[in-house]
Amino acid sequence: MAPVTLQGVSKVYANGVKAVDGVSLSIADGEFVVLVGPSGCGKSTTLRMIAGLEEISGGSLMVGGVRMNDVPARRRNMAMVFQNYALYPHLDVRRNMAFGLERRRTHGSLLKAVFDPTYRAQRAAERKAIDARVSAAAATLGIESLLQRKPRELSGGQRQRVAVGRALVRDPVAFLFDEPLSNLDAKLRGEMRTELRLLHQRLRATMVYVTHDQEEAMSLADRLVVMKDGVVQQVGTPSEVYGRPANRFVAGFVGTPTMNFIEGTVEAGGVFRWTAGTLRLPTGRWAALSGFQGKRMELGVRPDQIRVGSGPCRGRIIAVENYGDRMDLVIESGGRRITSRSPAAPVREGTDSAFELLLDGAHLFDPTAAGIALAAAAPNRAT
Ligand code: ADP
Repeated sequence: MAPVTLQGVSKVYANGVKAVDGVSLSIADGEFVVLVGPSGCGKSTTLRMIAGLEEISGGSLMVGGVRMNDVPARRRNMAMVFQNYALYPHLDVRRNMAFGLERRRTHGSLLKAVFDPTYRAQRAAERKAIDARVSAAAATLGIESLLQRKPRELSGGQRQRVAVGRALVRDPVAFLFDEPLSNLDAKLRGEMRTELRLLHQRLRATMVYVTHDQEEAMSLADRLVVMKDGVVQQVGTPSEVYGRPANRFVAGFVGTPTMNFIEGTVEAGGVFRWTAGTLRLPTGRWAALSGFQGKRMELGVRPDQIRVGSGPCRGRIIAVENYGDRMDLVIESGGRRITSRSPAAPVREGTDSAFELLLDGAHLFDPTAAGIALAAAAPNRAT
């Protein structure tokens, strides 16, 4: 296994599209890093450049301290797992898994096999070693009973497991995953996430994973790399990215339901005025709040920080999504919609209600400066 480092890596496609723009990133040996962002943000291109499937237009890629820009894919010893599994339909599971290793063996010679017993023994030993590796990988993934089947005789989840198995037998310097769970249904996706985490714990391998699904990214990553328009917006652990988003884009991209953004003005004494009234910002915990006075700002409040039932704000509950253990309520107030994630309670759509915004852990964004996060109120427990 090896650390992977990108220094100012860019990609301009032949049609002039700048898909990746100066990405710098250090992935530690044994780390599970997830590249996440909306469709078209350049995450697959970044992964494919690491794999060697796409030429690097600028910057450098280092693996284990060695520059890899011009090393062909087959010599990088990285294993890639694709969304569409990329299994050979005419080969059974065992042969699909062994395929990469078989190819690395020297070509056999029938003549030598007949006349040279040493050569015969060596070939047999090689085959036995490959068989052992395939069996070990199959045991790790719980697919020993499927080894004789063809891909068409497998479910989607089983096929994906075989694709992971094929990567596993190669003992690569890093595993690269390109949206590997996107073709699976929601329940199976959840199960496979857990399996991938467990696999990572067991192997302690360097893994780079691409997904557009922020929940999947949060559930898998040691660290997330949030991308937009070919540019890295933030790198951090799930807690860092969720708790201290670098800008409005990251704040809105991470978290379900989406963070509420409320436009208003910061006034003297830490008062935030918006269309539905005023809010007192927790001044003691906001660094340099006075500097924002008189400016238009966006206040970002997570849905679980909006409490319905009492408080200084009033609004109409226009939609209720009831999940049994909790509810997402859409409240219309002051001409805008606010989402609250609340404990399940008897609430009816179309009723008026008081509500409160809990501002510990809220964020202020500057809408004129690319939504840079200006301040985050430290949660109570941290003070
Ligand atoms: P993501 O994986 O985040 O969805 P991609 O890395 O696939 O994004 O694509 C990033 C950008 O590069 C997009 O604008 C996409 O249209 C463009 N792109 C991807 N592949 C090619 C290609 N082979 N030729 C030209 N443009 C491409």
